[in-house]
Amino acid sequence: MEYPDPRAEQERFSELLHKARSILAESGITETPYLDSLLLLAHAADTTREIILASLPETASADIAERFYNLISLRAAGSPAAYLLKQKEFYGHTFYVDERVLIPRPDTELLVDTAVSIYRSGLPGRRVLDLCSGSGCIGISIQAELLDADVSLGDISKDAIAVSTINTQKILGKILPSFNSDLLESIPGTFSLIVSNPPYLTDKECTDPLLVGRNEPLNALKAGPDGLTVLRRLAQQGFAKLEKKGYLILECGSTQAGRAADILKDAGFSEIRIMRDLSGRERALSGKAE
Ligand code: GLN
Repeated sequence: MEYPDPRAEQERFSELLHKARSILAESGITETPYLDSLLLLAHAADTTREIILASLPETASADIAERFYNLISLRAAGSPAAYLLKQKEFYGHTFYVDERVLIPRPDTELLVDTAVSIYRSGLPGRRVLDLCSGSGCIGISIQAELLDADVSLGDISKDAIAVSTINTQKILGKILPSFNSDLLESIPGTFSLIVSNPPYLTDKECTDPLLVGRNEPLNALKAGPDGLTVLRRLAQQGFAKLEKKGYLILECGSTQAGRAADILKDAGFSEIRIMRDLSGRERALSGKAE
């Protein structure tokens, strides 16, 4: 791919955007080449997209152009926009993200909606745990909705805890109790609600070159030959750590809900419900500990 030499020619913001959009469209890596270009240009110029749009006829400095083409070449090679921008919107909040954590997916907002509605329908207590918390997007969004809840975070990765701590401070203005733990092994006490987006991809799905190119932490995604090995342990441990009439809420892959429901049933859960995302796919489930 030919990249213009940013130092050889003075380019207007409009030209930078136009060229970047063509480069990204040609790469086929994104369905939104213009939006990605606009956001990355705003990032390179350390400003907002609105200011870029208002400055389209103006000439960009060589430094901005160089930074911008650098970001565009990384995006064209497969780096997710969220890692380049160091942020991602989720449930109306802007989360800090980098390669230490999985990028929050819009589908996962279903878990927050479900957790908030189950909490409001009445639970034995106020302790809520976001397990495999990554960026902290689920637990922090729940805490922002439910001011009286007592939310904790848990993750096997110390690096992920470092990122979620940035986000608790940034979004909630306080630190939530956070545990570095292999599932529930090192987390003290009991909970009324455990919500989790655990790793659930099969080993084979994790070899997909598109996924590998995204450079997300594999330990947040990979869960054995059938993608259910983490969920099996989580269901057992979760049942033991939940108070009576407490709930477990989990995200799963769209072809896994039936098998995941059986795993919850075998672990002792009742009233198992499967939830669908906006496109009608079975993506989450809940079970009650009685
Ligand atoms: N939905 C994610 C993906 O498809 C997987 C998330 C997970 O394993 N928890 O990349």
